Amino acid sequence: MPEKANPFAMAQRQLDEAARILRLDPAMHEFLRWPMREFHFTIPVRMDDGSVQVFKGFRVQYNDARGPAKGGIRYHPEETIDTVRALAAWMTWKTAALDLPLGGGKGGIICNPKEMSEGELERLSRGYMRRVAYFIGPEQDVPAPDVYTTPQIMAWMMDEYETIVGHHAPGVITGKPIPVGGSLGRGDATARGGVYTVREAAKVLNLDLEGATAAIQGYGNAGSFAHKLAVEILGLKVVAVSDSKGGIYNAEGLDYEKVLAHKQETGSVINFPGADSITNEELLELDVTVLFPAALEEVITEENAGNIKAKIVAELANGPTTPEADVIMHENGVYVIPDFLCNAGGVTVSYFEQVQNAYNHYWSEEEVHRALDAKMTTAFHAVHETARQYNVHNRLGAYLVSVARVAEAVRLRGWI
Ligand code: GLU
Repeated sequence: MPEKANPFAMAQRQLDEAARILRLDPAMHEFLRWPMREFHFTIPVRMDDGSVQVFKGFRVQYNDARGPAKGGIRYHPEETIDTVRALAAWMTWKTAALDLPLGGGKGGIICNPKEMSEGELERLSRGYMRRVAYFIGPEQDVPAPDVYTTPQIMAWMMDEYETIVGHHAPGVITGKPIPVGGSLGRGDATARGGVYTVREAAKVLNLDLEGATAAIQGYGNAGSFAHKLAVEILGLKVVAVSDSKGGIYNAEGLDYEKVLAHKQETGSVINFPGADSITNEELLELDVTVLFPAALEEVITEENAGNIKAKIVAELANGPTTPEADVIMHENGVYVIPDFLCNAGGVTVSYFEQVQNAYNHYWSEEEVHRALDAKMTTAFHAVHETARQYNVHNRLGAYLVSVARVAEAVRLRGWI
């Protein structure tokens, strides 16, 4: 595998292209290239063996012109400040693409949660919140789950925040468990939103998805629910799935309940009975109708973009495709639903969660699904139309929509 490019440099390059087409004022362009604020923390944690380990954490508030910064917190051994900056930038474009009254932010801790006990994870999560508490809040910056962070972690963080401020404040964080202020429909929202965009893409492409094939890279929250919902909502046959350990393939289709049970039992999808093994790289190049990259950044690059055979690439992961790969897939007629459109269902239902927390009144699951569908469908067609109008690939179309919205808010506030 070639060395990964710096994800923040990639995010800046994507913005530069949009700024050029929009003829953004140079000061506006420069302002939007950088985070407005960022915080670096050290978090000492008492480990189960009695020793103290010092973890590094970050929170980046990329832009809050349209509303409080919003975005998840990742726990990952390879986390870097530049990854968090890139993800915070993408959150800014994501909330704008969905026309949510929010800005963009992201957090991260360099750690390996797979090697930590539940108690260690709780102390780390509370320690992070003690560092960040003074800089966030329902009206400033609202974190949420992301890679390797869970509703339980959100509950610990909310509790720590409320202990510091001395009152209930469930709107400080989203993706919480239902009994402590979570929203129905948040659990599968990222995948569900993505599936709605695939449904809309199939309409504009005149594709029949019933019985067509799909492959999913990644089997975390987004990937596993994509398996379930691609079958349930779209009638797709999921022939391959993978996780960080490897992938499985069966031309007859893989049963969601059984694969999930196997993953819960063994810790991975690999060695699933009745399926062949494939690598993550092979999975991406399968001849399927829909490919869902639902793992990490930069998996579709100039090396393999020419081999992608899917008709629709639905990016549930953040940043899975490099700018070079975008151009290649566009030329080959692969219809890419870009990450900050495709995976925006999570933050959209997070926004609904904040609204419910603020009113202290909760919606039914049907209401959440209906509102999510309306938001995703509107955003999909705004991006699709803009890309057609400017004759550019969909990611650039999405940037044109979002950057124009954020720039307008910055201008109206009189910052530039
Ligand atoms: N981490 C998710 C994302 O990348 C959700 C963010 C949120 O709900 O604020 O969109």
